[in-house]
Amino acid sequence: LMQLFRPLDMLGFVYREVRQGLVDMAAMFRLLDTPAEIRDAPGARPLAVGAGEVRLEDVSFGYEPERQILKGIDIVIPAGSTLAVVGPSGAGKSTLARLLYRFYDPTGGRILIDGQDIAHVTQASLRGAIGIVPQDTVLFNDTIGYNIAYGREGADEAEVRAAAEGAAIAGFIESLPDGYDARVGERGLKLSGGEKQRVAIARTLLKNPPILILDEATSALDSRTEAEIQATLKGIERGRTSIVIAHRLSTIVDADQIVVLDGGRVVERGTHRELLVRRGLYTEMWLRQQAEEQEDVPA
Ligand code: ATP
Repeated sequence: LMQLFRPLDMLGFVYREVRQGLVDMAAMFRLLDTPAEIRDAPGARPLAVGAGEVRLEDVSFGYEPERQILKGIDIVIPAGSTLAVVGPSGAGKSTLARLLYRFYDPTGGRILIDGQDIAHVTQASLRGAIGIVPQDTVLFNDTIGYNIAYGREGADEAEVRAAAEGAAIAGFIESLPDGYDARVGERGLKLSGGEKQRVAIARTLLKNPPILILDEATSALDSRTEAEIQATLKGIERGRTSIVIAHRLSTIVDADQIVVLDGGRVVERGTHRELLVRRGLYTEMWLRQQAEEQEDVPA
């Protein structure tokens, strides 16, 4: 009999995960590669979210035991503040985000939200408390209204409109002949990178999570869209504990705290100003990006 139930269990699992928004993050987390070994601990209780303080204590992690990707990471993100994670490609920035969402468990140390080890709370409650705006948003072959409403089960029309408003995409939607009923995705309207990101922002506004992970797109949007999206994101970060995985340092100069990862270790930390004074890796990255941006400006 158990043999019969297992595949059904699995289907239920997939269904729930899809409903909870994992599909949206397939790009960021490589869902299909993710081993399904993370389970609720026996007797796991729901996360009791208070103000939303996030704490990493001596966190280490490797996808394979012989290759450590994160090494002894200590970070405290006070409730409501913004942490930016920067560093060279392959430093472990996305891996850190995956551990926060508990796609993997640390191999050493622990991650606490409001004092509770995330390995000991139910995954549903953990993922309910965290919103993710991924680099690349996957849209369903359905209406744009559905694609936004999916942020929270049972959201009504007025709430969907308010979220679209907050994500600065309401005007665009209202300009479509079918409005919120316009079909998007492969078989419908193709949205631009910026518009897709706004759909993700609207979903997150509906979900209204106390903790936010923003994975900044590597592929550059045009600079006006970029500036507009940044302004919208600043709005949704307000009052939430936010973790921003940043590729362009110019977008995180106001972060309360910047952590520079290199080779899986925190090599520098501080505010933008403090880090520039240190003249280390951050300064080097900053000067390089400034020079690149200068080159991009037409003479
Ligand atoms: P980028 O800025 O290029 O996105 P990153 O700092 O986010 O890089 P990660 O994606 O966290 O870096 O990757 C850190 C290291 O872990 C890399 O060497 C990468 O090859 C490895 N890695 C990432 N995902 C996996 C995986 N699913 N299995 C095995 N190794 C992985």
